[in-house]
Amino acid sequence: MRAGAFLDRDGTINVDTHHVSRVEDVHLIAGAAAAIAALNAAGVPVVIVTNQGGIARGYFTEDDYARVRDRVLQLLAAEGARVDAVYHCPHYPSVTGPCDCRKPGLRNYERGAAALGLDLAQSLFVGDRITDVLPAAAVGGTGVLVPSAHTAAEDVARAGREHLVAPTLGDAVRGFLSGRRDPGGIHPMAPTRRHP
Ligand SMILES: [Mg+2]
Ligand SMILES: [Zn+2]
Repeated sequence: MRAGAFLDRDGTINVDTHHVSRVEDVHLIAGAAAAIAALNAAGVPVVIVTNQGGIARGYFTEDDYARVRDRVLQLLAAEGARVDAVYHCPHYPSVTGPCDCRKPGLRNYERGAAALGLDLAQSLFVGDRITDVLPAAAVGGTGVLVPSAHTAAEDVARAGREHLVAPTLGDAVRGFLSGRRDPGGIHPMAPTRRHP
């Protein structure tokens, strides 16, 4: 059982233009591909876990979702970054009722862990919403909030108290990888900062 990196998509890898549903709206966040490539180089499998409630709400279709997913992967690949698996939740509670795959639900993380032989407790969880890092706490993993324009201030404050906050995905990855290389280090997450 090995560590993996579970990454949010919109607002973490690509710019969150609010329900990204068209390929022309897919723009990678600067440094995201390099961060994923660093995980690739370290042998840490990369899994995207994304809530796509816009499907349940009728804003876009599963086919639209699949095209955007493929575009994200294509743009990452063009920069030398490989994603090992992608899982999405197409549900929305007020439309489709509760499900166990919508973050912070663990189902999609468990699917990725089972498919790739990953230990969630050793793994990294990164995203721009508190729902992206709460799963880390649930399984004993490392959760890092990387705030975007869409991150609520209260969530940044909460993550700063209960999890970790990093300025960029690259910082979160560097902190995680350096902590793994030096597990006895006093500050294994030194490159990431707790938010003041
Ligand atoms: Mg997000
Ligand atoms: Zn779901």
